[in-house]
Amino acid sequence: MTTDNQLTCLVDGEPVSLETSLQLAELDAGLRNRIKREFPQSQPGDYICGHHLLKYRLEHVDAMINADLKQTKKINNKLTKALQSDDYDIVDVNETLTESLTFGQKISDDVAHFGGSWGFIFAFMFVLLAWMFVNGLHLFGINFDNYPFILLNLVLSCVAAIQAPIIMMSQNRSADRDRMMAENDYHVNLKSEHELRLLHAKVDHLAQNQVPHTMEIARFQLEILGEIRQELGELRTQEHVGSTTTRRESPHEDVDHS
Ligand SMILES: [Zn+2]
Repeated sequence: MTTDNQLTCLVDGEPVSLETSLQLAELDAGLRNRIKREFPQSQPGDYICGHHLLKYRLEHVDAMINADLKQTKKINNKLTKALQSDDYDIVDVNETLTESLTFGQKISDDVAHFGGSWGFIFAFMFVLLAWMFVNGLHLFGINFDNYPFILLNLVLSCVAAIQAPIIMMSQNRSADRDRMMAENDYHVNLKSEHELRLLHAKVDHLAQNQVPHTMEIARFQLEILGEIRQELGELRTQEHVGSTTTRRESPHEDVDHS
């Protein structure tokens, strides 16, 4: 505001000098809007004194810091809630399955394990060959199952008939194990994805708000430093002018006195 060419501060209307004040148009948009909110009638050509400018700068910095803290807190709360809300306990598949094993299941596992080994094949071949040799050649006077070994056929059929469901039992348990592991994986993946999304939001907030705000605060500091330097320069000039004037005047005074 100017009255009779006298510059005044738009906040309190006190007179200000050109050196210690700034025009609204010179300020950055965020700070200008903050001042405009409080003084809607102010114009870009209006002046504000250094004292009030500092007050608004501090308010602006406070507002930025508070907004950042609020947003960080919000994201942190979400993250904490996500970490606590997932009450699914990761199951130790091996331990759970071993603990819940019944006697029958243990036997079926052992049988399936032995049935699927080379030891079983060699042992079975030995039994078959011995059976056929003993009965075919009537060794030791034994011939309870003559050629073509009908009883052997019956025994083999029985073994196959019993072995098949035992192996299937063991396979069912193997399928149970796979299902439990898949369920574990699914929950872990879900939790990881959720946490990752929140961390992403946190990094976004850091990059999009906090870093620019820190830059803005640093810029404010540079501006204030510049202003201090300018005022210091002016003070030095005034001091220099003052001292030369005194020096120029003092010889005359000496002459006059002498
Ligand atoms: Zn002022």
